[in-house]
Amino acid sequence: MLKVTKFGGSSMADAKQYRKVRDILLSDPSRRVVVVSAAGKRNKKDHKITDLLYLCYAHTLYGVDCTGVLEMVSSRYIAIRDELGIDLNLEEEFAALKQRLDAKSVTQDELVSRGEYFSARLMAAYLGFQFIDAVDWVKFTLDGEVDKARSYAALRAMVSGRGVVTPGFYGLMPDGHIRTFSRGGSDITGSLAAAALDAEVYENWTDVSGILMADPRIVKDPLPIPEVTYDELRELSYSGAQVLHEGAIYPVREKNIPLNIRNTNAPDHPGTMIRERFDSNADPDRFITGITGRKDFSVVSLSKRGMSNQVGVLRKILTVFERHNISIDYTPSGIDNVSVVVPTEAIAASLYPILAEIQQEVRPDSLVVHDQIAIVAAVGRQMAFRPGISGKLFGALGQAGINIRIINQSPDELNIIIGVDNRDFARAIQVLYESFAI
Ligand code: ASP
Repeated sequence: MLKVTKFGGSSMADAKQYRKVRDILLSDPSRRVVVVSAAGKRNKKDHKITDLLYLCYAHTLYGVDCTGVLEMVSSRYIAIRDELGIDLNLEEEFAALKQRLDAKSVTQDELVSRGEYFSARLMAAYLGFQFIDAVDWVKFTLDGEVDKARSYAALRAMVSGRGVVTPGFYGLMPDGHIRTFSRGGSDITGSLAAAALDAEVYENWTDVSGILMADPRIVKDPLPIPEVTYDELRELSYSGAQVLHEGAIYPVREKNIPLNIRNTNAPDHPGTMIRERFDSNADPDRFITGITGRKDFSVVSLSKRGMSNQVGVLRKILTVFERHNISIDYTPSGIDNVSVVVPTEAIAASLYPILAEIQQEVRPDSLVVHDQIAIVAAVGRQMAFRPGISGKLFGALGQAGINIRIINQSPDELNIIIGVDNRDFARAIQVLYESFAI
């Protein structure tokens, strides 16, 4: 039995967190493979090591000395080493890195990858685990995709019965250069390791007790979601909640490995379990899994008498958006009208050409743009084929005096999407949370 664990930046921030990680690993011997992030913030005012490394690279790019910034990085790791009494000559490695930086022989990706590299070296030495560098198993193809077959085989060949620590976030290009994933990419490394080793579970340890039912900046102390499917997670992340790097889903999902979000600071909390499907439901009376949303959408609405009887009108409208390379979020429609919902930011630069082209090609009776619209999504697999859920949802919003501008639900009933004015956004989420979660 083998569990792959990934510890994020806040779990690696200082010696106190290293001790918690060790206790978590010692409490379950099947937690044998550990993927780590660079050290994160110790408090709100602190800096993430990865941010400092990007900053350091920007200095060198403009010929500004970055000794001070690099020292902020090295001193964080040296302090952890000294407090934990780890025997590792970091000074020598940082000096060598500085020399290569001065000689301009370090790429940005290589420099920023050092955060995870030093985290993994330290953690491996602290635990007495084997250190496996990510360059020795995470292999990219020339077009920058992970070569899963080669990467999986390489990791499998190196992992034996002993515990291992490997850095997240980066791997090796065919030309021998280091390449990093996008920010937050250690999640992907963990997922790849779990898939490579056919792990029983991929545990992603962070600083919250799982995915929350609603944004804690809007709802006070929202409940964590015990179980969520991949499809629900996609809906929840798309409209707001950001928990995992999107790229972390595919490797484990492909192999049907459950993904468990856990809290390093509350290790006994079961967190959130993410799976393809659940055979039974932990809480059969909870119809809504989560409530999420985003502000600042624009809605382009047009009506044309007799539109429902004409062939090709919708295609013409959508083609205009396609020509301007705008991805459309929702298209609620009536008999003789249709609306196209897109983030305001995405459409701002091409709004007037789009309107002009629609005018010319479709000749609508009316064409208007509504701005400052927020989208709120109630997501839940248990809503399907259960009468009364949307009634309750609309009733709650109506009672709170919130006007609904858009309604959208697909027949799979995984979510109910509503559009409200931006100014009603937070209250809509609050009202829905209160009527469904408690
Ligand atoms: N350290 C990287 C970042 O801050 C990658 C990660 O932590 O997942 O984005």
